[in-house]
Amino acid sequence: MSQNTLLDTPFIPSESTLNPVFDPQEFDRYVMQTYGRFPIAMERGQGCRLWDTQGKEYLDFVAGIATCTLGHAHPTLIATVTQQIQKLHHVSNFYYIPEQGALAKWIVDHSCADRVFFCNSGAEANEAAIKLIRKYAHTVLDFLEKPVILTAKASFHGRTLATVTATGQPKYQQDFDPLVPGFAYVPYNDIKAVENAIADLDEGNSRVAAIMLEPLQGEGGIRPGQLDYFLRLRKICDENSILLVFDEVQVGVGRSGKLWGYEHLGVEPDIFTSAKGLAGGIPIGAMMCKEFCNVFTPGTHASTFGGNPFVCASALTVLQTIEKENILQNVQQRGEQLRSRLRAIASAYPNLFTDVRGWGLINGIELSETISLTSLDIVKAAMEEGLLLAPAGPKVLRFVPPLIVSEAEVDQAAKLLEKVVAKLNV
Ligand SMILES: *Cc1c(COP(=O)(O)O)cnc(C)c1O
Repeated sequence: MSQNTLLDTPFIPSESTLNPVFDPQEFDRYVMQTYGRFPIAMERGQGCRLWDTQGKEYLDFVAGIATCTLGHAHPTLIATVTQQIQKLHHVSNFYYIPEQGALAKWIVDHSCADRVFFCNSGAEANEAAIKLIRKYAHTVLDFLEKPVILTAKASFHGRTLATVTATGQPKYQQDFDPLVPGFAYVPYNDIKAVENAIADLDEGNSRVAAIMLEPLQGEGGIRPGQLDYFLRLRKICDENSILLVFDEVQVGVGRSGKLWGYEHLGVEPDIFTSAKGLAGGIPIGAMMCKEFCNVFTPGTHASTFGGNPFVCASALTVLQTIEKENILQNVQQRGEQLRSRLRAIASAYPNLFTDVRGWGLINGIELSETISLTSLDIVKAAMEEGLLLAPAGPKVLRFVPPLIVSEAEVDQAAKLLEKVVAKLNV
């Protein structure tokens, strides 16, 4: 066998690959215009700080939208991805992948789930959940012909056709008709609406097979689930053989101050999903279920990239770091600190702000409906001052920093917001 010359003379990545020139006009000529982007580009990050190509420094309270759990350039994550890619980064699920097994075991040991399926994003994890619900309904649950999945208004479950249908916000569904059949919507935190929908949708061989909800609505405006609502919901699901499914894509993996958002609600889901923060910014999705609804068999669902050695080692490192470094305690303390500062700002400007809410390090401050100012206006003004924030709908500002954020950084973020608001409130 001849020597592999490619290995003998490794190609050094070019300067244009590692440091491409930032030119927004050139960018917009080639990339589809699916995002309203700010005209800046980030060049590097460290902890909760980012620097753009102009050298301007930002305090990052977006974290890749609740994704960079350990912040930027975390030494443990760097060591893991470097060592794993040197050893093995991708093989097919034709073979056993020990890193995938270890990650699944960690999740099962630290949650109410018995089984895990791996994919690459939140939407994909929710797709897997929707398929599992339907297979369970067709094969176990009264052999239902037309199972209905109940979701909440103002929810967010992703952008694929089925998950955008599950998303109870018409603005995301516009122009994508025909949507996927088998979904119905109820207002969030309203138990009477659930009871009515279950009764209304029960006809022939069709009925509600699952209720799919976020423990705290993220995108829809940082709305925490209410304890009494979820306790009643669990009871209703048990009495009517309905699966309770939680979308933990944004709130899971420690962001809420507990490992999983459902731990705030006194109930366990039958199925739940995770993605955003799970591997700290390396793309991953996961769908978890209890043994009784573990109805997937070989060939029923799959993903080429799903659960590869690289991403699973990354996720396991993120989870072990959360545990070893007592990060949940930091999330709880920094969350309290942030909410108390936001409440002080809100009460100083009652004409601007109407509410502060959240769990751990997923928090929102709501803008008054009586003023024309939107969350995007404040996001832009904050960016000028070096603070990165994200909107959660037109009237809610979202604060989702890395879970390692320090007391000094929360203090700095609050001071920057005070400065922004003082300037705006003319
Ligand atoms: C972001 C999000 C999704 C979609 O995740 P993607 O990785 O963008 O597909 C789904 N559900 C919730 C609750 C989310 O916040």
